[in-house]
Amino acid sequence: MPTIQDIMQTMEYGPAPEGTAEVTAWLAAHPVIPHYINGKFPKPEGPLAEVLNPATDAVLAQVALGTEAEVEAATRAARAAFPKWSALPGHARAQYLYALARHIQKRERFLSVLETMDNGKTIRESRDIDLPLVARHFYHHAGWAELLETEFPAHQPLGVCGQIIPWNFPLLMLAWKLAPALAAGNTVVLKPADLTPLSAFAFAQICVEVGLPPGVVNIVQGDGATGARIAGHPQIDKLAFTGSTEVGRILRRQTAGSGKKLSLELGGKSPFIVFEDADLDAAVEGVVDAIWFNQGEVCCAGSRILVQEGVAPRFFAKLTARMQTLRVGDPLDKTMDVGAIVSRKQLARIDALLQQGVAEGATFHRAPAALPAQGAFCTPGFFTGTAPAHTVSQTEIFGPVATTLTFRTPDEAVTLANDSRYGLSASIWSENVTRVIDIAAKVKAGVVWINATNLFDAGAPFGGFRESGFGREGGRAGMLEYLAPKARPGKPRPAPALPLTVAPCPDAATRPAIDITAKLYIGGKQARADSGQSYTVLGRAGAIGQAALANRKDARNAVEAAAKASGWGGITAHNRAQVLYFLAENLAQRRDEVTAALAATGASPKPEAELDASLRRIFWYAAQADKFDGAVTATKSNHVTLTVNEPFGTLAVICPDEAPLLSLLSLILPALAMGNRVVAVAAQSHPLIAAKLYQVLETSDLPAGVVNLLTGERDALAKTLAEHDDVAALWYHGSPDGVALVESSSAGNLKPVWAEGTLRDWLDPAQGQGADFLRRATQIKTIWLPYGA
Ligand code: NAD
Ligand code: MN
Repeated sequence: MPTIQDIMQTMEYGPAPEGTAEVTAWLAAHPVIPHYINGKFPKPEGPLAEVLNPATDAVLAQVALGTEAEVEAATRAARAAFPKWSALPGHARAQYLYALARHIQKRERFLSVLETMDNGKTIRESRDIDLPLVARHFYHHAGWAELLETEFPAHQPLGVCGQIIPWNFPLLMLAWKLAPALAAGNTVVLKPADLTPLSAFAFAQICVEVGLPPGVVNIVQGDGATGARIAGHPQIDKLAFTGSTEVGRILRRQTAGSGKKLSLELGGKSPFIVFEDADLDAAVEGVVDAIWFNQGEVCCAGSRILVQEGVAPRFFAKLTARMQTLRVGDPLDKTMDVGAIVSRKQLARIDALLQQGVAEGATFHRAPAALPAQGAFCTPGFFTGTAPAHTVSQTEIFGPVATTLTFRTPDEAVTLANDSRYGLSASIWSENVTRVIDIAAKVKAGVVWINATNLFDAGAPFGGFRESGFGREGGRAGMLEYLAPKARPGKPRPAPALPLTVAPCPDAATRPAIDITAKLYIGGKQARADSGQSYTVLGRAGAIGQAALANRKDARNAVEAAAKASGWGGITAHNRAQVLYFLAENLAQRRDEVTAALAATGASPKPEAELDASLRRIFWYAAQADKFDGAVTATKSNHVTLTVNEPFGTLAVICPDEAPLLSLLSLILPALAMGNRVVAVAAQSHPLIAAKLYQVLETSDLPAGVVNLLTGERDALAKTLAEHDDVAALWYHGSPDGVALVESSSAGNLKPVWAEGTLRDWLDPAQGQGADFLRRATQIKTIWLPYGA
């Protein structure tokens, strides 16, 4: 038997398992995990699936797989509970959320053990990370419920929210979804992952315990088929999903045109960037928390390690040394670093990717830890010799294995970091404050950790850029995902007449005096349509001119021109404001001419008023350019957590026919003020206004390519732009059919789409401008800066 002195020398711990008696007794009492519908646990009517402990292969329970009828019952209960729940004062909802937080805290140990047994994650993590964050999330959102009326005036809840969550943080993802939805006054139908249904059931029991009104929270257990039923249910007003990008795409298409609000938190392949002036030992500990935390089953895992060449050998040597002490095994053992993979299927998926990495020529460095004889365990490690194009460099492994690359210069680090379809997070290691902030600004990621990794807080928005999804969870931004501006009466917008007339029209009363041809405006130049075709524009008094008929090629040229104008996002907000003010000046000088053109369209009942409103709108967004800024969020002590409003890059704007000048300006101005470049499709029926506008733009200080104007068939151009990978976000104001078209066409690169098929009164500032436009023109980047020793 070793002496204490021996143990102090070797640091070899004896086993220290957490007790499971209470959980085992609870499981014995609940051999079948039921749904939670309308405050009750009805007997499941559909098939059952086994719930396994992946560390032991033991069957823990059976779980119900939700049927059509059960989803229907849950949705009906949520709908019935909505009027009363949403009408409660915020303070009353705050008390329920507070009670949930308190009761979760009182059951922390039970829930930690349960989570560990179901998921395979170590007890250290479920106890010290998952559960405290769960409780924190309910407390934080009890606060938002309390403050709802004052902090979100003129907003209302959405109704019934469908929420689908993954298996990697079962209870934490439940908390991230439920707390803001409930605080905002919505009711919910939530589906846990079929691999990890247990903690959601325990949570449902806590809902009963605190007396949450029946129907406010409904939990339907089940697999992807059950999820699809929730996503497709017509009574769901909002769908919130966390999981794979593949399923995210399916849900984007499935909900297209349904009017459901959608938020997606998807996969990642996040860079972990180590500069030569980093504290290498701290960075090595960072890797432990980045890729071996939660067995690497973390959407924001630092799974691509990028190391500056000069320190790479030393860094890899230190990492290899650190790996020697990693303990892999019984997740209930308090001394374990790495537990079990969630399932044998996921383990097989990881193993297949590891084999592929080796087959592609990389070297796998594995931790020497012996794996338990039983259970779904995976050897942690990292690859060297991976190339950027290798499968393992691009594909999310979702296991405890990182790929590595080296770089020479900071610019090269940024290029490699951004060489991914994803954009969830980034971790940057350097002791040079100028450098880390510079790189933080340049990486395409929704969350950036400086000299840190995997930090989370209920008050700090979390979510992705690019194919990592859209929408944020946490803080004020997270609340807005569950609220909408108070409804305005908008009738469905009619689709403009098609086909457009390109043949000569001898009957039309075209008079030479008003014979105008609108060209396209691309890269600061007037351009003819690639097709060589124009279409006849009808106004108040018959045909009033011709407009270029842009096609796919013109749209692509415009996107290319916009991409080249990237300097616009880099100039100061003050300078952007100056450019916009000067634009107003130039428009004012052409007042008579533009007013006459508006009058000729027949679409502007009060052309003078529309012009005046246009000038005011320019001033309003010029004013906002340096005022719609970010915040410092109170997260943890010794952390500055910044939320920065970043432009998307190229934003496509598809304009409606009503108020042709004002709607065009109302849509491009917020995008420009926030630093985006714009490709705009002018009103299909009144495109001559575009010609007036580009004449004004030509005399302004707007750099070439910052605004590009297309005329032609709205929905055809919208589809091309929605499909285009270099368009980062898209706004569509057209017909309801067009809404469905652009939403489904955007599933390729999962760009955020704001698509509206109802008429707006653009002259009314309450409808035609506002913070909502500015928010949609930006994506939040959350930057974590720990400080102090
Ligand atoms: P998944 O996307 O298939 O499942 C996530 C959730 O969506 C589960 O609740 C599942 O039942 C549900 N679902 C599946 N298909 C659905 C459909 N068609 N309609 C509605 N809901 C559906 O993820 P997975 O199979 O559990 O894991 C596969 C891969 O996804 C992982 O290897 C990993 O790369 C990724 N993943 C990412 C996250 C994340 O947090 N971003 C979480 C889990 C998994
Ligand atoms: Mn399980």
